[in-house]
Amino acid sequence: MSIMFPAEIKCSMCGTVSVHDEMISTSTFGTTDLDTRPPEVKRSTMYSWVQACPECGFAYRKLSEKAAVEKSFLSTQEYKTCDGISFASELARDFFRYHLILSAENKTEKAFWALLSSSWACDDVNDTQNAVLVRNRAIHLAEILMESHSMPKKNVETISLIRADMLRRTSQFEELLEKYEYVEYSEQLLNQILAFQKEMARNRRPERFTVQDAEEYFEEDSDEEKKEVILGKRDELFSQAVEIMIQEGGISITILQRKLRIGYMRAKRLVIAMEALGIAECENGRYKSKIDMENWEILKKINPI
Ligand SMILES: [Zn+2]
Repeated sequence: MSIMFPAEIKCSMCGTVSVHDEMISTSTFGTTDLDTRPPEVKRSTMYSWVQACPECGFAYRKLSEKAAVEKSFLSTQEYKTCDGISFASELARDFFRYHLILSAENKTEKAFWALLSSSWACDDVNDTQNAVLVRNRAIHLAEILMESHSMPKKNVETISLIRADMLRRTSQFEELLEKYEYVEYSEQLLNQILAFQKEMARNRRPERFTVQDAEEYFEEDSDEEKKEVILGKRDELFSQAVEIMIQEGGISITILQRKLRIGYMRAKRLVIAMEALGIAECENGRYKSKIDMENWEILKKINPI
C-alpha cells in the first residue's frame, strides 16, 4: 500500500500555497514494465511525482524548490501550450511541462524521465496519439543521452533498452530491428529483454509488456502454449473479448473471430489466455465464463491488463 500525506506547499515562482499529496512510503508487487514503469501499488502514485501550481502553472518535483529558470519561462508559448500538444490528461501535461523546465536547466537525463512519465500518463487515459508524440520526443532525448558519454555505462544501457521499448510502442518495428541488430549488453537479463523486444517487433506487437513476460517467454520449459498466453493476455482486444464472452454466456473461437473481425490464431490466443487466467473454461470447443461482469470490473482494477 501507499501512505500519502497532504501538505501545503508554497510555489517558489508565485508564492501561491496549494495542497499536494506527498508520498511517505509505497510498495510494489510484481515486475516492472519493459520501460521501467513500476507495478502496482507504486504505479498509481504517479500523480505525486510532480507538483503543479494552480496559479502560475509551474510544474516541478516539489513546488517549493527553486528552479533555474525565470518566471517568464512559464509565459512562453512553448510552455503554455506544451509545444502545441493538447493533452487529455492533466498529469501528462504537468510531466511534460516539468520536462520542459528540466531541459531548460540542461538536466537532460531528468527531463528524459519526466517525459517518459508523461507518456505513461497518456497511456492511462488512452490518449494514444499523444503517447506516440511524447515517446518520439523521448526517443530523441534518449539518443542525445546515449551519445553524450556523460553517464555511467549502466545508465546508458538502461536508456538504450527503454528506447528499444519506445520504438516498439510507437510501431517503429523496422527501426528497432535495424538499430539493435548488433547491440549487446553487459547483463544477461538485459540481453534477454532485448531479444524479447526484437521478437515482439518481428510479430508487430506494440503493446505493453512486463519484465516477467520477457523472462517467461524464454524459459527453457516455456512451451508454445505458454507463449500464446503471454501474447493473448496482452492483446489490446483482450478486455473486449472477455466482455463478449460474459455477455453471450459463452463463445467459440469462430464466433469470437466474427465478432472482433480477427484471424483464427489471434482469436485462439485470446481464449487460451482467458482459460489460463481462470476466467473461462472450455467445454466441447465452447468457452464459458467463470466470472460475471461485476467481478471482471474488479479484476481489471486489481490487475490492469
Ligand atoms: Zn505558482
